[in-house]
Amino acid sequence: MEGNRTKIVCTVGPASASPAMLTKMIRSGMNVARLNFSHGTHDDHRRLMRAVRVAAKNAGKTVGILQDLQGPKIRVGTLPPDGVTLHHAENIILTTSTVPYKSGGAIPVTYEKLHRDVRAGHRILFDDGTLEVIVTRVRGRNISAKVSVGGVLTSHKGMNLPDSHVDANPFTRKDRDDLLFGIENGVDWVVLSFVTCADDMQTARNVARIAARANGTSMPKMMAKVERRSAIDNFAEILAVSDGVMLGRGDLGVEIPPEEVPVIQKDVIEACRRAGKPCLVATQMLNSMSDNPRATRAETSDVANAVFDHADAVMLSAESATGHYPAVTVQAMAAVIREAEKSHYDDIRSVSLVVPDVPTAFAESVSVLCASKLVGAVATLAAYGDAVGKINMYRLDVPIFVVCADEGIARQMTVSAGVYPVVLDDAPATLSSRLLQKLRREKLLLSRERLALVTMHGGAATLSIIG
Ligand code: PEP
Repeated sequence: MEGNRTKIVCTVGPASASPAMLTKMIRSGMNVARLNFSHGTHDDHRRLMRAVRVAAKNAGKTVGILQDLQGPKIRVGTLPPDGVTLHHAENIILTTSTVPYKSGGAIPVTYEKLHRDVRAGHRILFDDGTLEVIVTRVRGRNISAKVSVGGVLTSHKGMNLPDSHVDANPFTRKDRDDLLFGIENGVDWVVLSFVTCADDMQTARNVARIAARANGTSMPKMMAKVERRSAIDNFAEILAVSDGVMLGRGDLGVEIPPEEVPVIQKDVIEACRRAGKPCLVATQMLNSMSDNPRATRAETSDVANAVFDHADAVMLSAESATGHYPAVTVQAMAAVIREAEKSHYDDIRSVSLVVPDVPTAFAESVSVLCASKLVGAVATLAAYGDAVGKINMYRLDVPIFVVCADEGIARQMTVSAGVYPVVLDDAPATLSSRLLQKLRREKLLLSRERLALVTMHGGAATLSIIG
């Protein structure tokens, strides 16, 4: 079967707003469209969703829609169009009061409690850590600070407070409104940003559940964006209540020393793989391709290494949303993934004959069958839930076809590595023959290849080799 195991998530935006461009991107390997709710209006997002659906139909592919909520991103307020230059060692004032900026005066920030959360000695970083100031004093709503890394600060740039306990609720009023909009418009995944603990996920999930029930729409899957030190500290409890994880390396690399991020990437992906939940690696993967048709060698290696780490999906941000070469970037990403997956560095070998439980032992036997080339694909049913994650723990070299009762469930599978949804009603008596016929007819399984079909009855898993 054609296609890579590792999925590609593309942030969509002005550069990829037309169905024609999106069709090209989907044909080049895009599996999921990410809508970044830090930008744009509901009308913009509605138009983008419509275009994605048209393009998916044109390309004849299942494409998921992932809604990424802004969360409590702290930003600089409005500054003059050319920004304000912060000089090294200069003393400046930041303010949480709502007075507009006046030349040489206090710089406004959007988070009204900032003066309560910072103390003298705390660092404040701007624009993904490009500029840095150190707090010297807090008086009322004014925060005095000394510039340690200067540069030009422009309006609405993001701010990070790596030394401060930020009291902002990770699920803001805007997030709630955006989530309700997403549910009304049938998004498949919702990503909660700046998650700190399991409760943050539960709050958003409860709102989503009530809204989905009220709308009569299906419940989206809920993904935690890991981009804070507290999310790393509480990762096990967050993973337990999340359907998947996005590693937000942009903010994470500012909140913690960037040299810690590659190891955290490996740990987070490994924990997700063992839990059978998808993990998506985000940010700056092919950053230079926003402006150039060719990636740097370091970027190419970054994508390949995410594959070797066994990420489920890799993500494009500005490259596909506002860059000059969205489709070329998807092609480049797909080519790197293809080469990386051909190598042995992405193989997962069982290291011991001792496995923790019967489902894992079962999944391991399926993986041995596939590694021995005795079957050309594995199939199971979405209704078995955990079975897919368990089997996928081994990152098989053959596709895992998952029979879904409807398109909505199929779209939720698009973020998982190696998983390909097949929509069929699951009348059990004829399922295996209909599935085999469909896979053969669509050339997803060659006539000489056999299929490992995993089914479950009353808690017992059954493996049949058919074809
Ligand atoms: C990130 O910080 O890496 C990220 C994906 O978040 P955003 O693009 O929403 O800032």
